Amino acid sequence: MKRIILFCLILFLTGCTKSPSVFTMVERADTGIRNVHYPITKVKKVDEVLNSYVNEVYQIFFTHHANGKYLCPELNIDYIYQHLEDRYLNITLFTYILDEVNHPPIDDVFSLFFDKSSHSFLSLKEVIKEESWENFSSLTKVKFQQQLPSFQEQEIQNLAFQIEEEVFSLYFVHEEELFTVTFPLDAVPLKFSFEPSPTPQEKIIPVSNSIDPKLPVVAITFDDGPTDYTNEVLQILKENDAVATFFVLGNKVEMYQNVIRDLVKNGSEIGNHTYNHKWLSRLSEGEIRFQIEKTQEKIKNITGIAPKFLRPTYGEVNQKIRRNTDLNIALWTVDPKDWKQKSPQKIASSILDIVEDEDIILLHDNHKRSVSALKILLPELKKQGYQFVTLSELTEVKRIREGKFFP
Ligand code: ZN
Repeated sequence: MKRIILFCLILFLTGCTKSPSVFTMVERADTGIRNVHYPITKVKKVDEVLNSYVNEVYQIFFTHHANGKYLCPELNIDYIYQHLEDRYLNITLFTYILDEVNHPPIDDVFSLFFDKSSHSFLSLKEVIKEESWENFSSLTKVKFQQQLPSFQEQEIQNLAFQIEEEVFSLYFVHEEELFTVTFPLDAVPLKFSFEPSPTPQEKIIPVSNSIDPKLPVVAITFDDGPTDYTNEVLQILKENDAVATFFVLGNKVEMYQNVIRDLVKNGSEIGNHTYNHKWLSRLSEGEIRFQIEKTQEKIKNITGIAPKFLRPTYGEVNQKIRRNTDLNIALWTVDPKDWKQKSPQKIASSILDIVEDEDIILLHDNHKRSVSALKILLPELKKQGYQFVTLSELTEVKRIREGKFFP
């Protein structure tokens, strides 16, 4: 028996270590905002390279900040991740720094293409068929020169590149500005052929939660996920017959599609927390729409359900945001500041001290301490007679209570 348990444990642990995850940091401090997302592939050689790029960016950011070059800066690192044919890893990291002094943003880009069989990194030239290189590079040069006349052909072999769905993108940074050239994937003479893996379009039928509108209700919400902790959050919710609303980032939806589907199946709701956590109220109208709509699309693709609620980053709303979305803007009424407060007990008690009927509680599923706080919080709220509802259910309960609902 012991042996079976040990075997299962090893299977479970190796399973855990093999699957990729996303590093998530959303940090608002006096030194500015750091909003960093990049994949942890669990392939040592690849993770070392990604880490060293991110550390280099941190160095530059903090040096400039210390020199007063940046004023109220926001550092963003975002990614595109592709695992192709179970053999190649193609990852691009995008860096942009937005601040009050430097506008437009400062851009940087870094990409890698790793062959797990040969355990080596391949350059652009190494993924293009030799006989087609000359043709491909002159076409690439023409396309870049349309945007940047000073672009030189010798830059081509070192370009960052990314395969994404049906598109092949090439990136070049000139004077802190990012230039992108794209080709349809099937028009690129690659040495390897890639079958795009279809994303599921299944419609999930969630379990329906029975709620008595006469009894107190509370809506728990989680921002900035999903993460490796989200599945544990789901298990704690299930143990307590609870549901919650998860405001997820669009750039993590594909990587965490299984847990998102499980959340929906179990009656929780998925909300929109932008694509990559940029400071929404600072963006242009076009960028705001991109952040919201791309996330809607990603979530609908894997759950069959488009979110109804948007939680703007840093809880900031302005007319520009309202003008560019039909989604309901969802803020919160109870904030235990779990991004700052380190003790799970204190996170739980700062909620329990003030919680009332119809409250919306803000938590983040990218902190272990918030998961631990949930274990304390849910049984206690249940004991006090609270029913756990999603934001859609909370809206319904309020309508019924206001007498605006006619069944
Ligand atoms: Zn957030």
